[in-house]
Amino acid sequence: MAKENFVEQIADIEKDFPQWYTDVVKKTKLVDYGPVKGTMVIRPYGYAIWENIQKELDKRFKETGHENAYFPLLIPMSFFTKEAEHVEGFAPEVAVVTHAGGEELSEPLAIRPTSETVFGNMYSKWLQSYRDLPIMINQWANVMRWEKTTRPFLRTSEFLWQEGHTCHATEEEAMEETIKMLGVYKEFAENCLAIPVLTGKKTEKEKFAGAVATFGMEAMMKDGKSLQAGTSHYLGQNFAKAFDIKFLDKDGVQKHAYTTSWGVSTRLIGALIMAHGDQRGLVIPPVVAPTQVVIVPIAAKKGGVMEACYDLKEKLTKAGVRVVLDSTDNSPGWKFNEWEMKGVPLRIEVGPRDLEAGKVVIFRRDTCQKDFYDLTSVIDTVTSLLTAVQKDMLEAARVRRDERIVYANDIQGILAGVEGGNFVKAGWCGCRECEEKIKEETAATARVYAEGETAETCAVCGKKAKHMIIYARAY
Ligand code: ZN
Repeated sequence: MAKENFVEQIADIEKDFPQWYTDVVKKTKLVDYGPVKGTMVIRPYGYAIWENIQKELDKRFKETGHENAYFPLLIPMSFFTKEAEHVEGFAPEVAVVTHAGGEELSEPLAIRPTSETVFGNMYSKWLQSYRDLPIMINQWANVMRWEKTTRPFLRTSEFLWQEGHTCHATEEEAMEETIKMLGVYKEFAENCLAIPVLTGKKTEKEKFAGAVATFGMEAMMKDGKSLQAGTSHYLGQNFAKAFDIKFLDKDGVQKHAYTTSWGVSTRLIGALIMAHGDQRGLVIPPVVAPTQVVIVPIAAKKGGVMEACYDLKEKLTKAGVRVVLDSTDNSPGWKFNEWEMKGVPLRIEVGPRDLEAGKVVIFRRDTCQKDFYDLTSVIDTVTSLLTAVQKDMLEAARVRRDERIVYANDIQGILAGVEGGNFVKAGWCGCRECEEKIKEETAATARVYAEGETAETCAVCGKKAKHMIIYARAY
């Protein structure tokens, strides 16, 4: 049996990105494979990142007027057939319970792949008058989508997410909510995960099954591929009509409501790994890092070193910093490797000679730079460094991405662009055939419409372009 060993090599990030990813998620103990194929165990270090993600997002959902609730895992199969596109889109991925309590069930039950149907069912009962609107509920839950090829955090049969489901009196209000939540996701991705994202509408082919329109946010990973990091759907009256979500309006007329849904998942952890990681392992932005600072004593047995470490730990904790003091008997070099691999933003090295001079060494994981700092002002230094790391990581990721957004006029140009690890902007006439041809010939898909940009001609057929599209190979 293979033992967990931090000294083991991580695969070369330049030569074998997929293996690098697998090595990093395993060796840093973020995740392990579950006994059922396609499932993952999110280990404490990975779950702590998820908890920080949840905390930040939950705050934003509540600030924008949403409440949390919990809906059942099991959904009657008949619910899925009520919305034609929805059932067609999800049928291949749904896991179904047919037996329970030693008997065959009279109606098979779906393990939720998403919950529009059960929310729709309940909203139809709860909604009566315009006074009940809007209804704005979010749930934190697990969902199951049976996948053939799986990778931890990116594609697993069960994953954790949040799904917001809202109900509004008018089309305008529902559309405003859809765009607002996309904005919340973007702000969160940039300010908490330090990942710059491109947001925009998705094509008909790429939209959510049952939606009128889907808006997505796309993030560039270090291999130049795109990861869909979140989506917000305007559902129009599709689910309202399928589930009879109606209300008596001010004018005394019964009307169908307009609904939205929006979600992000544990995929965000995969995004975090692949947007920032390097040859040494993870690089985690301070806002979501389980440990923001690690203190490593050098020559711990020398007078005053451990005392200084304990004192530092206490003061940092009081200042609200998530700090670990590594007082194990591993060598300092071993500790440096381990905590660098785990992506801890800052490391403070406390050694006897530096202490005498009133100094400590602080190492920044994002830039891998070391500097001496005065011990007397080290708490202020740490808090301002954490702010700087957060900001600089976003900026560095933005520079990396923007250097790799190119334009193309034809399929060859798109192919060359994505093969070179770029996002490619190109014109599109709007027809399905051209979109499919690009996928067949380049393995790239239309990620989102490039907001605020127009194009002359379609890169495939040469006809007049209706939209500028961002193409990329995607996870
Ligand atoms: Zn075309």
